[in-house]
Amino acid sequence: MTDGAAGYDVLVLGGGVAGCVLAARLSEDPDRTVCLVEAGPDFGPDRRAWPAGVLNARALPREEVWERGAAAHRIRGRLLGGSSGINGCWNTWGSEADHAAWARRGGPRWTATAMEPFRLAAVSRMGLREVPESEFSLWSGAALAAAAELGYGRVDMGTVGGPGYGTPLLNAFDGVRHNAAFAYLEEARSRPNLTVIGDATVDRLDIRGGRAHGALVELDGRRRTLVADSYLLACGTFGSPAVLMRSGIGPADHLLDLGVRPEADLPGVGANLADQPGVFVPLRSTDELNAALAAKEADGDLYVSRMLVRAAGAFCPDDSWNLHILPVAGPPLFGKLPPGQYEAGISAFVMNPVSRGTVRLTSADSAAPPRIDPGFLTDEDGRDLAVLRSGLEIVERMAAGTALKPLVGPVHGRPAQDLSDQDLRARLGTYWHPVGTCAMGTADDPLAVVDGEGRVRGTTNLRVVDASVLPTVPAANTQLPVLALAEMLADLIRGER
Ligand SMILES: Cc1cc2nc3c(=O)[nH]c(=O)nc-3n(C[C@H](O)[C@H](O)[C@H](O)COP(=O)(O)OP(=O)(O)OC[C@H]3O[C@@H](n4cnc5c(N)ncnc54)[C@H](O)[C@@H]3O)c2cc1C
Repeated sequence: MTDGAAGYDVLVLGGGVAGCVLAARLSEDPDRTVCLVEAGPDFGPDRRAWPAGVLNARALPREEVWERGAAAHRIRGRLLGGSSGINGCWNTWGSEADHAAWARRGGPRWTATAMEPFRLAAVSRMGLREVPESEFSLWSGAALAAAAELGYGRVDMGTVGGPGYGTPLLNAFDGVRHNAAFAYLEEARSRPNLTVIGDATVDRLDIRGGRAHGALVELDGRRRTLVADSYLLACGTFGSPAVLMRSGIGPADHLLDLGVRPEADLPGVGANLADQPGVFVPLRSTDELNAALAAKEADGDLYVSRMLVRAAGAFCPDDSWNLHILPVAGPPLFGKLPPGQYEAGISAFVMNPVSRGTVRLTSADSAAPPRIDPGFLTDEDGRDLAVLRSGLEIVERMAAGTALKPLVGPVHGRPAQDLSDQDLRARLGTYWHPVGTCAMGTADDPLAVVDGEGRVRGTTNLRVVDASVLPTVPAANTQLPVLALAEMLADLIRGER
């Protein structure tokens, strides 16, 4: 590690999904020195040394996170591998409309066609695979039939296409979560030109005259300055805007309130937070379903969900989808049930929300958690709420059809789509796909933080490369899109030499 002037060619700040891709791809060139810095632990090259919870793909771990016990929408991984170390291992891809929206902001490299080689590279490197037959429970099989019953056709979830039902691509093998650190760093770690530093929190960048001159990092209770020619910020949708703001890049009035001297007044930093809200409709699992799930659990093959429906709800463009309908049955995501009993139900998620939230600092101190307002269902026209209600109608029809009804019994009570706005808001959850807080945009867009190549406006050697640069959430789970965008920008950076 360099405390002085020599430094690295590239510093990758944040060792999550995007950071692992960047570190691996850029260090493929033996003449480029790369240092990857991660706030959380690096459990090392031997998988047996990784915590069981992080490896177990049958549940969502809650240990290696930034804030234990925090509200669900704040959950994010804090370990090498980032949120891929704690996530659901589902991989899907967005629609043509999503890519068209990105290309309008970032240029032609963001179209589905132009991104295809990078999607394929990510699929291959992560070893993404179809759901094996053995992982289907009685519930998932019936859910596939229920989707067909509603008239949906089968589609490939890993590519663009249209609405329909299918199975996600998985980065889990025999119940083991295959995170981005395994996929991208296992081989790369031995390269002499790659340094990986765990337990090192980036406080801020030293920005002067539009250039980053160093990264101030807390390591072993000491503050170090790491130096490089170029800096790639990959701290994720909550972490990257926080580092930029502490570095003086962000909305000037907010920075001045916190006593941070503005280096670049970029009002878009921490604005435009977009995440996919959803509502879970609980159903009563019958004895037959409980018994089948118990047997599956005893075999070690119980997964709460293995299929989804891409559905078109209110305000959906033709031939596209703006909802994920997600039937689940298994141990509850939150809380516990008595042995032999399981939670069953179906969620509807708003995939392309127009509502926006914010990430703001509460202090210039890097140890202070940011203020995160997801802004769910806050758009003035009530569009997201309308999309959600249209999704809940589909949920209701799916649950009442002949395929699922025998497993969950009759649906009692008021249909979810008829609940009051207040009740729906009270039941709101997240699909955990936040993006947009360092959004890319054109030069005339006052809220743009980076250009289509990830360059931070007004700086010469600083890029953001992670989920935060996406100006809109795709109608997909975001891991594969983030892997692909990091592959794409790594390829671009490699070509700059
Ligand atoms: C509970 C949960 C479930 C999810 N399930 C799925 C799913 O099934 N499928 C899917 O496609 N997507 C899923 N996601 C989303 C997916 O994991 C993210 O889209 C993806 O990880 C984003 O990648 P990233 O590189 O932008 O951020 P991350 O992977 O979160 O990486 C950011 C990294 O930066 C580090 N960092 C942050 N601040 C600092 C700092 N100051 N100094 C040093 N390091 C820092 C963090 O510790 C982290 O390692 C889920 C997310 C969560 C939280």
